[in-house]
Amino acid sequence: MGSIPGGSPSEDLSTTRPSVESVVIIGSGPAAWTAAIYAARADLNPVVYEGEPSREMIPGGQLMFTTDIENFPGFPKAIGGQEFMALMKEQAVRFGTRVVGENITKVDLTERPFLLTPSYSQPVTAQTVIVATGARAIWLGLDNEERLAQSGGGVSACAVCDGALPFFRDKVLVVVGGGDSAMEEAIYLTKFAREVVIIHRRDAFRASRVMVDRALANPKIRVEWNTEVVDVLGGDEITGVRLRHTQTGDEREMGAGGLFVAIGHTPNTAFLDGAVELDASGYIVTPTSWRTETSVAGVFAAGDVIDPYYRQAITSAGSGCMAALEAERWLAHHGDPAVTAS
Ligand code: NAP
Repeated sequence: MGSIPGGSPSEDLSTTRPSVESVVIIGSGPAAWTAAIYAARADLNPVVYEGEPSREMIPGGQLMFTTDIENFPGFPKAIGGQEFMALMKEQAVRFGTRVVGENITKVDLTERPFLLTPSYSQPVTAQTVIVATGARAIWLGLDNEERLAQSGGGVSACAVCDGALPFFRDKVLVVVGGGDSAMEEAIYLTKFAREVVIIHRRDAFRASRVMVDRALANPKIRVEWNTEVVDVLGGDEITGVRLRHTQTGDEREMGAGGLFVAIGHTPNTAFLDGAVELDASGYIVTPTSWRTETSVAGVFAAGDVIDPYYRQAITSAGSGCMAALEAERWLAHHGDPAVTAS
């Protein structure tokens, strides 16, 4: 729903593009921008393919959906997610990073230089690649959820993108999930909603204590425990949800003016199409501990696309730094043809 922030016009690389790029970075979250800052300061002339806005994801990644980042050192008074990503990008660009507002849709990593195909522009060749494409929202998988999400009928996986829309004002809004995302979305939505109901399938949240305490202390938030959403009601617009108690199996309907699904994320690795080794959940495997190299020599990965465990801005940024340093050292050992504009 709503307009999606982020994205930028593609930079015209025709005059600045070397015949073979030294480092191509795919993604635009903390891992990607940190890798770009390090690669640019190492004179590797990186280019970042920052992706295109879609219903599930926007350039800048998941922090674009985060209101206040309070746990990234250096920001004692917190910083908004969108401002934070804009600053990271600005820092990367300041050191000469080139940015293209396109996805990489296809890769051929069978030989160097690697061949990468963007959505619209010409394929690009690269000596090294850093994959930092992050992860995206998981949906419940209900037909009416998909229908109303696609039609803008009041179903969303991004409270920060959509919650402020007039559509959702002064209504009862449902948030599904029991993790930090659900807590954060619920708290955010209390700014606009009459009431926020968190629907969780168990009797305990998995979210961090501080987030749970904050959510439960909010007088506009209440919780339906041991409950799942089994259908979304409404024609053109959501009017409610059908709930099922997970222990008794009892079903009932509840009126609602919006549904926000916050049940986790899946790594954005489909475009790799098996070119690098993935684990069973689709995360890129980095076989050596404390290294970002993947199963393909010269291809590195960083951020949430390798990390189902920590998934924090600070750990993503750290692994982006590691990937850039490893790419730099790999190029030094394997010979990087001088990066000169053709
Ligand atoms: P998550 O921690 O994986 O939690 C997903 C939640 O959704 C779980 O409570 C899970 O229930 C529930 N769920 C999963 N599939 C479901 C389904 N089909 N139907 C109903 N419920 C379902 O995901 P997350 O909340 O997106 O957080 C991901 C990571 O990002 C975490 O490490 C988190 O700490 C971090 N994060 C941090 C912040 C912050 O620090 N401000 C904000 C957002 C996210 P069960 O508990 O029963 O499995």
